[in-house]
Amino acid sequence: MQMYINGLWCDAADGETIAVINPATEEILDTVPSATVADVERAIASSKRAFADWRKLPARERCDYLKQMSQKLETHRAEFEELLTREQGKALAEHREELDICLNTIDYYAQLIKNGIGKVIPADNETAFNFVMREPYGPTACIIPFNYPLLLLFWKIAPALAAGNTVIVKPSEKTPLATLKLAVEVLAHFPPGVINIVTGYGDKIGDALTTHPEVPTIAFTGSTAVGQHIIRATAHQVKNLHLELGGKDAAVIAEDMDPALAARAIATSSMWNAGQICTSTERVFVAESLYPQFLEELVAVVAALRLGDGLDPDTDVGPMCDASGFDKVERHIADAQAKGARILVGGRRSSQHDSGYFFEPTVIADAIPDMLCMQEETFGPTVAVAPYRDIEQAIDLVNATSYGLGAVFMGHNPRQIRQFFVNVKAGTVWINDPLPDNVAGPFGGMKHSGSHSRELGEEGLFSFMETKHVHWDFDPAARAINWFDKS
Ligand code: NAD
Repeated sequence: MQMYINGLWCDAADGETIAVINPATEEILDTVPSATVADVERAIASSKRAFADWRKLPARERCDYLKQMSQKLETHRAEFEELLTREQGKALAEHREELDICLNTIDYYAQLIKNGIGKVIPADNETAFNFVMREPYGPTACIIPFNYPLLLLFWKIAPALAAGNTVIVKPSEKTPLATLKLAVEVLAHFPPGVINIVTGYGDKIGDALTTHPEVPTIAFTGSTAVGQHIIRATAHQVKNLHLELGGKDAAVIAEDMDPALAARAIATSSMWNAGQICTSTERVFVAESLYPQFLEELVAVVAALRLGDGLDPDTDVGPMCDASGFDKVERHIADAQAKGARILVGGRRSSQHDSGYFFEPTVIADAIPDMLCMQEETFGPTVAVAPYRDIEQAIDLVNATSYGLGAVFMGHNPRQIRQFFVNVKAGTVWINDPLPDNVAGPFGGMKHSGSHSRELGEEGLFSFMETKHVHWDFDPAARAINWFDKS
């Protein structure tokens, strides 16, 4: 496929391409351009031209553009779900859910932009009128990771466009195909330049996109390491950085929880998308009295998970998206074993598959805080489990990483639940139901998990709008204003 700049399809200026691999079969699905700095600059110039008119459209008209986008996505959703499964790997059912969330997100922001978004504030005198307005920033870089290629794209472009910005989308080099298909099926009604899609490697074009002076907003989802690089690279430019970064989420299973129910919930929240979710449950702390029974139940559920091609309806867990993910998973497992952990199930690449990046769903028991699997994001199908003594210790353990994205509590004691959600440093807390998204609920991370802005909810719209206070005195001569008046 070609990439999409200024409403036209094109190759990279130097003709270089990237092969997109099906992680379940290792077959090449297609190639896309490996954009150059010159291509990025063309996309930004186009985005800047389009912004001049797009920002002036009444909110009602931008809403209509978004509604049309949502209708077309709905019409073609089955094709997108299948293509996403081929290029990303997770099970088809999970891609159906991804499309549901995309559609909900677009509809939510299409409506929200028609609400009041500013306010009138009390003026200090009777000939003045003071109000607060919100306006778009301009061309916005939307940089997307491989794990939710469309969901994370719409979490950015739906509010950014609704707010009157234009966007330059850079999908992950591993999963650009569904994004380019959007331009074929879903985005063609937008004026040229309002949405540009540039495909390429982060280390080849990332800086050209993020440090360009005509791009005031960077909406980035990805690893903390790349997020920190963007902060450093743009520090002198003081940009609007909207960074959604890594996680090391924990769950606490209280003594009054049904261990079988908790095991099913945790197996799901740790193994969905082969553990490649920023909010995957990677650490589990279980009340001492429940620990042996919970482990038994968890092992039974995890051992029964079927590993396979995401297009196979019997598949529970698909492949990892890319072979490069294996190294970290294996390093974390080896480190845990060396420090005394037990691997109760899994622990290695699948021997059942001749091709594809399949790793066996893995349960690590008796994990201790200084293991890599308790500190660094693993981003694979593993879950590390440890017992806790009391709720205070459980909360300390949950907070004992540099990340603060999400946290899960499973139990029924309201005092413990309150203690948990008040004291845990995490942007989202789920109680008894791990990981659902709510488009009206702001999503983002504390500590090293993000730049403290949020996606979704009203906050997710205001991230793409700059606040301006206007003081307007409509009769300055009527008052004795002290303007160095010596008379
Ligand atoms: P990544 O950081 O390797 O890449 C993300 C995107 O950034 C890709 O498009 C990549 O090409 C681009 N990129 C790489 N170098 C760049 C540079 N120097 N400048 C600009 N862009 C550059 O992440 P990934 O491996 O694709 O995704 C996994 C990571 O994303 C995990 O850490 C995960 O936790 C995180 N993530 C976070 C959230 C969240 O909401 N907090 C959601 C999903 C994923």
